[in-house]
Amino acid sequence: MSRTLVVEQSAIDTKGGAVAEELANIGVVGLAAMGASLARNLAHHGNTVAVYNRHYSRTETLINEHGDEGKFIPSKTLEEFVASLAKPRTAIIMVKAGDPTDQMINALADLMEPGDIIVDAGNAYFKDTIRREKAIRARGLHFVGCGVSGGEEGALKGPSMMPGGTEESWKTLGPILKTISAQAEGEPCVTHIGSDGAGHFVKMVHNGIEYADMQLISESYDLMRRGLGLSVDELADVFAEWNKGDLDSYLIEITAEVLRHKDAKTGKPFLDIVVDRAGMKGTGTWTVQTALSLGTPVTGIGEAVFARGLSSEADLRAEAQTKGLAGPEPEGAFSAIAADPEERAAFIEDVRQALYASKIVAYAQGFNEIEEGAKEYNWKIDLGAVARIWRGGCIIRAKFLNRISDAYDSGEQFGSLLFDPFFKAAVEGAQASWRRVVARAAEAGIPVPVFSSSLAYYDGLRSKRLPAALIQGQRDFFGAHTYGRVDEPGVFHTLWAEPGRKEIKQA
Ligand code: NDP
Repeated sequence: MSRTLVVEQSAIDTKGGAVAEELANIGVVGLAAMGASLARNLAHHGNTVAVYNRHYSRTETLINEHGDEGKFIPSKTLEEFVASLAKPRTAIIMVKAGDPTDQMINALADLMEPGDIIVDAGNAYFKDTIRREKAIRARGLHFVGCGVSGGEEGALKGPSMMPGGTEESWKTLGPILKTISAQAEGEPCVTHIGSDGAGHFVKMVHNGIEYADMQLISESYDLMRRGLGLSVDELADVFAEWNKGDLDSYLIEITAEVLRHKDAKTGKPFLDIVVDRAGMKGTGTWTVQTALSLGTPVTGIGEAVFARGLSSEADLRAEAQTKGLAGPEPEGAFSAIAADPEERAAFIEDVRQALYASKIVAYAQGFNEIEEGAKEYNWKIDLGAVARIWRGGCIIRAKFLNRISDAYDSGEQFGSLLFDPFFKAAVEGAQASWRRVVARAAEAGIPVPVFSSSLAYYDGLRSKRLPAALIQGQRDFFGAHTYGRVDEPGVFHTLWAEPGRKEIKQA
């Protein structure tokens, strides 16, 4: 597919001089996988899209291969790009995260005018977005950090979008984003999340939950493949079946596909030729670091990030093999169960229930992190709306999110999703299976860090008394860190070194 450019760029004065034949209502800067797809998506929905890339070759490729899909105005320079935008100008940046994004924001801001909107749709750290928004606002422009999920295909066909920034910028951007985002049950998967960095914060937590979800599915796979001895095709059938029920989701769906895939070169299951070291680009780590600084335990996400870390410790793992660390042999650990069809089916159902319960915990923790982030950074975030915009377009899209939005939309006040009647009952129903799976995994030597840490979180939450009392005693003993009493308000310290260990009230 090749065509001439829709509008030939003419020399235009960016401050309102000569006027081009037609101006674009929106522009995209950065035309690699994500930017080119987003520009095409915008063009498919009737927008006239100005496009610019640092190296013109990408712009040419976009126009040559997809120019006939809609109206594009290509530019060779950033000055021409800005001049090709109708005022107030709206430019979406989709370049490499970090310094390149800062450079591009500043270059655009130098050419733009008060009232114009710069959108960073890349994967930015939310604190960078807060900093950038403040700096750009001081120059009279709007800056919107917008989380985009769904990868290249989502950007083209409809992503889930999480814009931050001012209400005013949302008035301009909202109607456009609503047409290009994914649609779930007739609703666009985009909402104004909150001011400055709120959108990128929520996108970050989305990615953290994605880490936990993927790890949970992998732990289920490991239990059934190594422990139960199921083949990849049998496992694909199990996941395909699971996808018809409570676990119906994009990640379960693609898991069945990945399991069924055979390597063209060797004919082996694809999973057996893939190096078992999980990569990461940093958003999971940000989610955990942020949770730590907010004091919010996101144990499921944390263990998922650490599990990827352990998988990538190639030298350490190789050394462990040579040292022969002792323990049970996971392969065929559940062969007795596998031999009996009824027991085998019951075990698979236990794993499904354990996955469901652990997943509820991971989401509950992720939503708590959003709540705590909103308090810390003064954002008004509608948690029900967040769940709704994750139902389509993004990697964690799942039917289950309807239940989360129902819980938050009910208006009931609760500190954790685990207290919502639906989720409380779901976990109660699943917990016998969950406990069996964690216990059996430990006995078999199969690591299930997110299953087990989620269960520990649940049990920690429901415990009337926690051993934290002992920790307080130890802290007071060695560091005079003080403690509270259950029967009297105030701050206390025990004089541990003195005979009689007298207690003194400090406040
Ligand atoms: P890359 O992250 O690979 O970035 C490549 C693009 O950045 C090219 O257009 C490149 O221009 C441009 N670029 C790099 N350095 C500079 C610079 N100093 N000045 C100007 N332009 C520069 O592209 P992707 O499409 O994969 O991702 C774009 C953004 O979207 C990133 O922030 C990414 O984190 C985010 N994102 C990516 C997702 C994905 O699935 N890939 C999902 C969601 C968000 P040139 O061609 O001239 O080198």
